[in-house]
Amino acid sequence: MEARLSGEVAIVTGAGSGIGRATALRLSAEGAHTLVVDINEAGAKETVTLGGGHPGRLQMIGLDVSAEHAPEQIMSACIAKLGHPSVFVNNAGIGGARPTHETEDAELDRFLDVNFRSGFRICRAVLSDMVEGHRTGTIVHLSSIFALRGFPTSSVYSATKGALISLTQNQSADYGPYGIRVNAVAPGVIRTPMNAERLDNNAWFRDTLLEATPLGRVGAPEDIAAGIAFLCSYDASFITGQVLAIDGGWSTTKFAPMPV
Ligand code: NAD
Repeated sequence: MEARLSGEVAIVTGAGSGIGRATALRLSAEGAHTLVVDINEAGAKETVTLGGGHPGRLQMIGLDVSAEHAPEQIMSACIAKLGHPSVFVNNAGIGGARPTHETEDAELDRFLDVNFRSGFRICRAVLSDMVEGHRTGTIVHLSSIFALRGFPTSSVYSATKGALISLTQNQSADYGPYGIRVNAVAPGVIRTPMNAERLDNNAWFRDTLLEATPLGRVGAPEDIAAGIAFLCSYDASFITGQVLAIDGGWSTTKFAPMPV
């Protein structure tokens, strides 16, 4: 694989599973030394093991990204084990929201905490380090197609993912002058532990999404990782403030494709 990210140091949250794991493995395969962050330590360790032969070294830290001192702990671990970060992938997240009238305060707070507040606070630490050290870099936020179109039952989940799009645009304006690029990806329906149960057991969920996907399949974590690696690389050096939908065309069509 081309070493587009040789010399980079990346932090990927939620990298013990799914899209985060595929991303950490892709970035390290392209040469980036990569810190795997996850509340699931066993999952994080497995990611490190899976990437054992990659040109970019993998290290891990197990923690809850919404914990008070998570940003400082992540930064200290990254600097001590791998160096100052030049890439941050804000991926850790939770899914499975309910309609608004069924969403209780505790659930609302948990979504806001894990899917928005934590990533914002880690960004603040990463961006401070980049700006103070006069280093350029790049950030990718994990949004969702459910932030681009209304979708039943996704309520507060979609709202947190929409907030990440606004943050992407605002951060790109604030940090472009420092040579720091900020983009988002909006994955379509991707088979990961987050939604495997729904894909397997909820025919309405699976069929509604698949019927309106011109490319006609569920995505793989590696599809998203490839887009993130591109956005982090010099190939995307004039791209900032953008939301790249990686969804088999779902967000650009309202209708099921004609049979061929
Ligand atoms: P996943 O459940 O497979 O992985 C999420 C990872 O985040 C897990 O390893 C989990 O342990 C970790 N995590 C959760 N809460 C954490 C916390 N508080 N602290 C530290 N780690 C924590 O899910 P995924 O599908 O790979 O999702 C990754 C990202 O992609 C999420 O932000 C999700 O919203 C987004 N996304 C996924 C899909 C999809 O279809 N799978 C679609 C759109 C967006």
